[in-house]
Amino acid sequence: MITTKFLEDLKTLPKLEAIVEGNGSIFDLIIIGGGPAGLTAALYAGRARLKTLLIERALIGGMASTTYKIENYPGFSEGISGMDISHKFEEGVRNLDIPIYYGEVTKITKDRYIEIDGEKIQAKAIIIASGTETKKLGILGEDKFRGRGVSYCATCDGSFYKEKNIAVVGGGNSAIEEAIYLTRFAKKVTIIHRRDKLRADKIIIEKALNNPKIFVLWNSTIEEINGDKRVESLTLLNTQTNTRTTLPMEGLFIYIGRIPNTSFVDNILDMSKNRFIKVDNNMRTSSSGIFACGDVIEKSLYQIVTAAGDGALAAESARKFIEDEYLNDREKTTTI
Ligand code: NAP
Repeated sequence: MITTKFLEDLKTLPKLEAIVEGNGSIFDLIIIGGGPAGLTAALYAGRARLKTLLIERALIGGMASTTYKIENYPGFSEGISGMDISHKFEEGVRNLDIPIYYGEVTKITKDRYIEIDGEKIQAKAIIIASGTETKKLGILGEDKFRGRGVSYCATCDGSFYKEKNIAVVGGGNSAIEEAIYLTRFAKKVTIIHRRDKLRADKIIIEKALNNPKIFVLWNSTIEEINGDKRVESLTLLNTQTNTRTTLPMEGLFIYIGRIPNTSFVDNILDMSKNRFIKVDNNMRTSSSGIFACGDVIEKSLYQIVTAAGDGALAAESARKFIEDEYLNDREKTTTI
């Protein structure tokens, strides 16, 4: 989501050459990704006085920043918007004067070089916190109507659907939370789910099912998104009866899971079959000096609070690695 603040920030962004020149030829630590995991890693690295560069390709806060309301981050019992919590995370990093560079890393190597914007920068350690991106349905009409009725971001596009009849596909936390958010605008929100059970947290499911604007179509998949200039209807398949129907619809929000941003990693690290990065308990990857944390790793719970915890651990592991590899005994410290 492009905000006014983001556009203002863009005007004053530091150039890569200036950042590199100001920091000498080699960084202690380069963190790839500015979501909760990367920002927490930067906070801990800054406090350990590691010479750190944080790189973000799009929006500080990552997926969290596009979430309307976060209700399960400790300390915010009333809930906090994704944008606000991201700004709070970012503030901590800015206070430590850690440079944030906006650009896209295209490659990293085992000897800890990163390639970005035609430059090669070296670091003693790298933390990958590049998160995930939206999974697509891959059906007819999805690309054609993107931005014309098909959306992947309720907080960005929800207000365009005032008093409209819209659908959300998916049964996880994202789909159900965003369906609830969309009822602020829409006349009716239909959740289309391929099974007869939602996988979202129970408290979120209860809220959704008690909302008079929300309806659920169970055991249904979308085969095609139809329309002329904008979305007008969906072709649905009932997987139990094997029957097809056409459902009039003015918008479709797709929340069917996430895929990890690991294309720049090539095959230098061990990864799961879905290309999430494998790490040990200390966020160490299979390659020495390269760490990973947050949604990009293979783990059992994907939350802001776990991303922040992973980020702190990754920074601590990176600090220890740098000390062991690069410092003599007199320079070593014991804590962050
Ligand atoms: P998710 O939990 O993986 O859920 C994806 C949903 O989409 C599932 O219900 C899945 O159906 C469905 N789906 C997958 N592929 C599909 C397809 N091709 N066609 C139709 N439906 C399809 O993804 P998410 O909701 O984006 O969440 C990602 C992670 O972030 C999760 O671990 C989640 O808990 C976490 N998260 C947490 C919060 C929170 O705590 N407030 C908020 C957002 C996300 P099946 O159920 O049949 O597999």
